Amino acid sequence: MINQPTQITVTCGRCGHKRSTDDGFSDRVPLRERHVVVRTLLAVNEGWQCDEDGDLCPACAAPDTTANR
Ligand SMILES: [Zn+2]
Repeated sequence: MINQPTQITVTCGRCGHKRSTDDGFSDRVPLRERHVVVRTLLAVNEGWQCDEDGDLCPACAAPDTTANR
């Protein structure tokens, strides 16, 4: 079976929010690279903050505008 799932899940390191995406990668793109690409896409398109420390969803990455802590 060569039918690997191409869906990549990025998890927020703070609230645990999961974002799954399937961008139809070529089978030749290694899983590791797919994850990098997905994180970049989420950062650019959805406001995720993805760096070496981990991934933050838009709500957690956003500036503290709620003044709720
Ligand atoms: Zn979050």
